[in-house]
Amino acid sequence: MKQPLETPAANFDPLAVPVKLRVTPAAARHLASLGIETVGDALNYAPRRYYHWGKLTALSQLNEGEEITVLAQVISARLVHNRSGKGVRFLVGITDGSSELTVTFFARNEYALTHHQRLLQPGETFLFAGKVSEYQGNLQLVQPSFEEIEADSEQSVERRRGRPIPIYRAKASVPSWKIAGLIDQIMATVNWEQVPDPLADPDGGLGQRHSLLSLSRAYQLLHQPEDDTDWQNARRTLAWVEALTLQTSLLQPRVQADLAGTHRSRPLVPGQGEELVERLIRGLPFQLTGGQLEAWQQISSDLEGTSPMQRLLQADVGAGKTVVALLVMLRAVENGQQAALLAPTEVLATQHLASIQRLLDLSQVEVPLHLLTGSQPASARENTLMHLAGGEPSLVVGTHALIQDGVEIPNLSVLVVDEQHRFGVSQREHLRQGRDPRPHLLVMTATPIPRTIALTVFGDLDVTAMRELPAGRTPVQTHRVPQENPVWMARLWQRAREEIAAGGRVYVVVPRIADEAEPAAPGVPLPSVDAVAAQLRAEPALAGIEVGIAHGQAKPEENARALERFARGEAPILVATTVVEVGVDVPEATMMVIWGAQQFGLSQLHQLRGRVGRSDRPSVCMLVHPVALNELAEARLQALVEHSDGFALAEVDLRLRQEGDVLGVVQSGGRSSLRFLSVRRDGAIIAAARTEAERILAEDPQLEQHSGLAREVDRVRGDQVRWLASS
Ligand code: ADP
Ligand code: MG
Repeated sequence: MKQPLETPAANFDPLAVPVKLRVTPAAARHLASLGIETVGDALNYAPRRYYHWGKLTALSQLNEGEEITVLAQVISARLVHNRSGKGVRFLVGITDGSSELTVTFFARNEYALTHHQRLLQPGETFLFAGKVSEYQGNLQLVQPSFEEIEADSEQSVERRRGRPIPIYRAKASVPSWKIAGLIDQIMATVNWEQVPDPLADPDGGLGQRHSLLSLSRAYQLLHQPEDDTDWQNARRTLAWVEALTLQTSLLQPRVQADLAGTHRSRPLVPGQGEELVERLIRGLPFQLTGGQLEAWQQISSDLEGTSPMQRLLQADVGAGKTVVALLVMLRAVENGQQAALLAPTEVLATQHLASIQRLLDLSQVEVPLHLLTGSQPASARENTLMHLAGGEPSLVVGTHALIQDGVEIPNLSVLVVDEQHRFGVSQREHLRQGRDPRPHLLVMTATPIPRTIALTVFGDLDVTAMRELPAGRTPVQTHRVPQENPVWMARLWQRAREEIAAGGRVYVVVPRIADEAEPAAPGVPLPSVDAVAAQLRAEPALAGIEVGIAHGQAKPEENARALERFARGEAPILVATTVVEVGVDVPEATMMVIWGAQQFGLSQLHQLRGRVGRSDRPSVCMLVHPVALNELAEARLQALVEHSDGFALAEVDLRLRQEGDVLGVVQSGGRSSLRFLSVRRDGAIIAAARTEAERILAEDPQLEQHSGLAREVDRVRGDQVRWLASS
């Protein structure tokens, strides 16, 4: 009987072929040492940069340190064993007719230079490119790139001079030219027709709309460009592949779940029984801002649907996200449901509980409100757990303790996650997984993040940006204070005294808790909580004023107590680490001193500054730092002085960062999936790829017509991209 025909061609993936089937075993070992195992790895091994054959230099006019290109004929070539017995040198004498020069290649043994010895034969003409150096009084070229030129062929010289030479990340044992040779060799074996193309659209529209190459063409031009435009286009196409793959992998689960109806939420509609939302809004001592109203409108219409809300609320510090979160939670209670707010720290959870209680009291809205944290007394915890498990309509605020096993919230229909960057997606999803109906989700950021980042990291969320601040806020005046200047420092503490005398509170934030026995870096040690608190207690200008402390190694209840005494004005100076960074709300605070400000990231500084200016009283922020700063720290502090808008600062922050400091990739295996895409530069690509991904998934949710894309999505699935929030 005839076996059913296998169709290897359909599943065959030329990129998955091991390179050892394509090159010699020795070459395969070299490639493996660079992390190249498959044909795909080799193609994705992008040149670090491209070398350009420069204008031809005459050998008689060389200067040390110059990057030159010379067209010259080999006149001698000899291999020399180093005296030490280790390593060899290959010395090549060249001439351009006017002068002579020595070109030197080093290697561990002569075999590594076989290629050179074979090519660089006396009489042959080459283009050499490299940097002129001096050795024992003579100029020479060490390890230059070189290319053979058909003698006297002007055309050939011109053509080669126009072509960029790819330079790869290399090792002594595997130099760049060798990698280039092996990649060329591997490319020659690829059947390009068979390479699955993630950008291939059944109607071919995508590539056309965005002027992209096919994946095959992109690989060819990446490694074998004829000119600079070639590799630039190639990199752009490859960045698109990554952006589209990322967006598709982020959006697909949601689209599929919607389609399958597996993730259904309980619609939360207004006007069910008690109108808590209405009553809260009416009872508040202030008008909601236009931004708050707009955000609430978007959110409440999400809540009315049966597909779960997944929304990110972006707003500046002090914009009033808590009220919006409370409205969402009350809508759940109105519908007889439970709602939870997840906070990253105990301080924040306690703080949220207090501000929510205050808002409820102000509006005379009575709703059961619970707290769940790890450090609660057992009896309080048991009590909360019991109430939650009972399923009565209520609100709960908590830390990670909320997502531990044994916590039952049977009627949970709204989850608000504050300061999302501190949680992984899996933590955030823990409370929603396997629940039917599925809770609606609202994620709130501590400060705005650039849209590019939001799309990359929170790509599965819809984004609401709340740009307006409550009326009557005076922007916080921000000043820089050089810490070496005793007059300014004395003036600083005098100012602190004045703020406190006028009913204000003063935060002093420092980068460390205690002094280290040995400072990590030479120079002025960084200020610590212990040292600064001691100094301020002895400061004449602050005589009679109590100084409290708070930091991450203190017991949560000690910190909570210090904050309470601070809020009440009993200890109106608080020396602390960044435990006060997020969310802490003491409206009386009017002065923020950040000592060692150069140590903090821009969003952190902005977040810290946001702890003051929370009432109609003018506030100040003092950035205390050493006079001598590096360029980046200088730029960060200056940006903070100049901008008060968090959305603007977020964009500055992104520009100032190194690519590597922008995203972290939390991985389930393999290495980073982002090689060509730059979240710093490629905002436009990311936004456009998002739109294309939405379209593709709407037309083809299972990606049946997009097999190339499906393959890439499978490959990167499990990668989790994370925004690195600090400097
Ligand atoms: P954040 O967005 O940083 O979390 P909060 O929710 O803590 O900001 O709000 C900051 C302060 O502004 C709180 O004291 C809050 O009561 C107050 N607030 C919120 N909305 C308004 C408003 N529309 N008008 C006046 N004050 C408001
Ligand atoms: Mg907040």
